[in-house]
Amino acid sequence: MIEYESLVNSNAAYMADLESAASRVIRGGWYVLGQEVGAFESEFAQYVGAKHCIGVANGLDALILTIEALDLPKGSEILVASNTYIATILAIVRAGHKPVLVEPDIETYNIDPANLMGAMTSKTRAICVTHLFGKSCRMDAIGEFASLHNLRLIEDCAQSHGAKLRGQMTGTFGDAGCFSFYPTKNLGAIGDAGAVVTNDDALADRLLYLRNYGSKQKYVNNYVGVNSRLDEIQAALLRVKLRHLDEMTQHKRAMAEIYFRDLPSWLNLPRRRDDEYDVFHIFGVRHARRDELRAWLLENGVKTEVHYPIPPHKQKAMQGTLSGDWPIADELHATELSLPISVGHTEIDIHAICGVLNKATLRFLQV
Ligand SMILES: *Cc1c(COP(=O)(O)O)cnc(C)c1O
Repeated sequence: MIEYESLVNSNAAYMADLESAASRVIRGGWYVLGQEVGAFESEFAQYVGAKHCIGVANGLDALILTIEALDLPKGSEILVASNTYIATILAIVRAGHKPVLVEPDIETYNIDPANLMGAMTSKTRAICVTHLFGKSCRMDAIGEFASLHNLRLIEDCAQSHGAKLRGQMTGTFGDAGCFSFYPTKNLGAIGDAGAVVTNDDALADRLLYLRNYGSKQKYVNNYVGVNSRLDEIQAALLRVKLRHLDEMTQHKRAMAEIYFRDLPSWLNLPRRRDDEYDVFHIFGVRHARRDELRAWLLENGVKTEVHYPIPPHKQKAMQGTLSGDWPIADELHATELSLPISVGHTEIDIHAICGVLNKATLRFLQV
């Protein structure tokens, strides 16, 4: 059986360094907001090419606190992709604003810049893009649109560590880039962790307060903050893996290359462009009979995932918040299938998966 992902395999190459990093923190006796967090923040800021990095507890908090820190008028409308992972939308609601959906480009799964104008009202104050599956959104067109209409621009980079557009890292195009280091992400901790990167001094300063009870000086509280700190042990573990992020990305890109070369033509593959450096957090293909194909793969020893089975506007939690018809989101959620692509997989695994899919041609060629 080829697993969709085994985190033991994904972390295997770094196990000894991870263990000694954790043990260094345990023996050091300083467990919250210490030198590991400080060191990770400067190393990650440097990696991304941003002036500041602020560690937080997880990716959802990175988004919520960033939106809060922008201090938009209550009830502002924020444009967001209709097919994003629910966290992006939850963050907008949690920060006291109204998510306004924008349909994606079906070829890239990312928010379609051509659809932004149709979603604008007098209350629109920001765009929150998601670089879904490890592909950068078209930040050239989106950035231009945002500055033309005076909108703040937030990037959900939870799936795009190291992804670039025209050589520029995701997370550096807008006001802030929000990262998750959930264990399965391209840079994954051994538990929950997150961070915000920004070039904006005032925004960075506000985030330092918000993550720690609204306080930068012990027992002095300037804002109504929360407790959302990046853990010292997680920071130490992330420092180990950050040193290997580029090689992990290269591994995923090499596996994607095999998929692009060897997958049968009856599968819809993600679009590629020369100026987009994709990091393949997820390798998402599409097929009209997705569920049948998924079952067939499982019978033939290949586990897959669906990202995601239910679109945000059809979630119970979003009744009363999101309404309307979102046919492209519906289509993506009905047809997307995620094939295994992780650091723990070998090229042999990927060849085997391609072999199984090519064997399925007679069965799935026709829709
Ligand atoms: C994982 C993810 C998040 C949330 O990150 P957590 O660390 O799990 O809170 C937000 N947005 C997207 C697109 C994600 O994939």
